[in-house]
Amino acid sequence: MLKSAHKLIRSIAAELNLNDEDLQYLLTPVAVHAFEVSLGNKKSYKAFRVQHNNARGPFKGGIRFHPEVDQDEVQALATLMSLKTAAVGLPLGGGKGGIAINPKGLDAATLEKLSRAYVKGLWQHIGPDVDIPAPDVNTNSTIIDWMVDEYETLSGDTSHASFTGKSLENGGSEGRVEATGRGGAIVLSEVLAQNKVNECSIAIQGFGNVGSYFAHSLAELIPKAKVIAASDSSATLYSESGLDVEALASFKENKGSFIDFVAPGVEVQPADAILTKKVTVLALAALGSVITSENLHEIHTEYILELANGPVSDAAHDAFTTDGGVVIPDIIANAGGVIVSYLEWLQNKKVEHWALSKVREELKRYLLTATDEALQLSKQNNVSLKDAGTKLAIRRILEARN
Ligand code: NAD
Repeated sequence: MLKSAHKLIRSIAAELNLNDEDLQYLLTPVAVHAFEVSLGNKKSYKAFRVQHNNARGPFKGGIRFHPEVDQDEVQALATLMSLKTAAVGLPLGGGKGGIAINPKGLDAATLEKLSRAYVKGLWQHIGPDVDIPAPDVNTNSTIIDWMVDEYETLSGDTSHASFTGKSLENGGSEGRVEATGRGGAIVLSEVLAQNKVNECSIAIQGFGNVGSYFAHSLAELIPKAKVIAASDSSATLYSESGLDVEALASFKENKGSFIDFVAPGVEVQPADAILTKKVTVLALAALGSVITSENLHEIHTEYILELANGPVSDAAHDAFTTDGGVVIPDIIANAGGVIVSYLEWLQNKKVEHWALSKVREELKRYLLTATDEALQLSKQNNVSLKDAGTKLAIRRILEARN
């Protein structure tokens, strides 16, 4: 992952004729904090926070709890956060953190201890104007609330602006939960409108937070879109005449997985069948590296929307776009979450709480601007949207460097 992030930066740096000093600046994190957190039972776990770049504002990025967390992965994700915040024009930099632990099965008291231990190891290096972490894989608003409490106890800060992704009662923002999925629908609607696509069929891989809110937002944002397939890790649901996405969401909430779904006209197929559907748009909202050179020949779509991080490999991206396909890249397609995180931080700083309508309006403003800028540069330079978005981001980071 780190190699791929560096390869992307190197290739854009070459296109922009950057010198070696600029390139090294873009590749090198400002700070890497590697430490251990202990649960007091003689067991300790590796913990990281990589602060990649803060030229445009405080470091920003999530904290994940996952057994495969390591320094390279955290650095790669921190680097991508710097590109993402710059690509969508936020006055923020990029960071990422994590603990190498499997949190499944830990009780609430242990999770709280772990979350507080992480902040104890890091608090002097973060803060509302320095580095503002957020939830990520296996972390949520409850965990962030514990972290804020620990940070405020240790630092004396009372603004609640030290972390985002907090619960609503603790200074969280309206619209944060839906932000990434809704943001993906905003970006897609703009790309389709500019390419004069009116009616479209959509397949959605992954029906968790991002995939389900994406599906839900389509009725409002792209009314002519028809979701004909949706999958989770257990199954693909398929109906040529269109799925009822609200029924799918409530089934998933009640039953946990699609495998036992029954409805007239809906076929239950293997999970991977989603990738081979003939659709206008394939939205990938599950995992990274789903489409590679090995399975690209099975894909029958015109647009791929990267709602997950890095679901299309570099080689598959290049082959697909050379063939005339459009990949709507993750740094714009899934930036809704970090945009609303920024809005949460702004509200905390101003001691305000905005209505959902205002948050949605701001989210739309940031994403439409970013999408239009990337589309314009992509047309002007005849490059992919990923190239264009990354180029815009890199230019902005270098302009902000002092
Ligand atoms: P989630 O855990 O809520 O949902 C993930 C979904 O993917 C689940 O429905 C799961 O069943 C499904 N899935 C897993 N393996 C699958 C497979 N092999 N085939 C089909 N479906 C599969 O996670 P989420 O918050 O919706 O995030 C989805 C992706 O988007 C992740 O890669 C995440 O890193 C990325 N992302 C999330 C956010 C956010 O704000 N939540 C922001 C940016 C990026």
